[in-house]
Amino acid sequence: MDLRDLYQDVIVDHNRSPRNFREIAQADRIAEGVNPLCGDKLRVYLDLEGDRIRDISFEGSGCAISVASASLMTESLKGKTEKEARDFFRKIHGMLTEESPDIEIESLGKLAALSGVKAYPSRVKCATLCWHAVSAALDQSEKAVSTE
Ligand code: ZN
Repeated sequence: MDLRDLYQDVIVDHNRSPRNFREIAQADRIAEGVNPLCGDKLRVYLDLEGDRIRDISFEGSGCAISVASASLMTESLKGKTEKEARDFFRKIHGMLTEESPDIEIESLGKLAALSGVKAYPSRVKCATLCWHAVSAALDQSEKAVSTE
């Protein structure tokens, strides 16, 4: 089995049974991402503890790439710091949009499965949608009101 087949399998698997596909009722941050070109619409939930992502989930509907990407993203970002999350996003974005990205694909773990999307420029926005949403969620200021 070559790498391309392996990546394809990861995408198919995560689209068929998305991980962390649920709402977080007590989410600290919520952000929506919409990709009108494809019809992808995702909502991400973040549960933060200081600058660490204690829990992350998503809901919504979209194409296989957008759902698989969000599923892989939630798996990768759980337990990570905000800085690490932004770092991942920068790498993913670079991997998919730069001519010759200076990135060790192996350092991305399972997220490397998204690298094949680069061959389909119209789908890059599908793959990065959830990342833009998380980025927006992290940019939100602290909630002013909390019951805890
Ligand atoms: Zn899409």
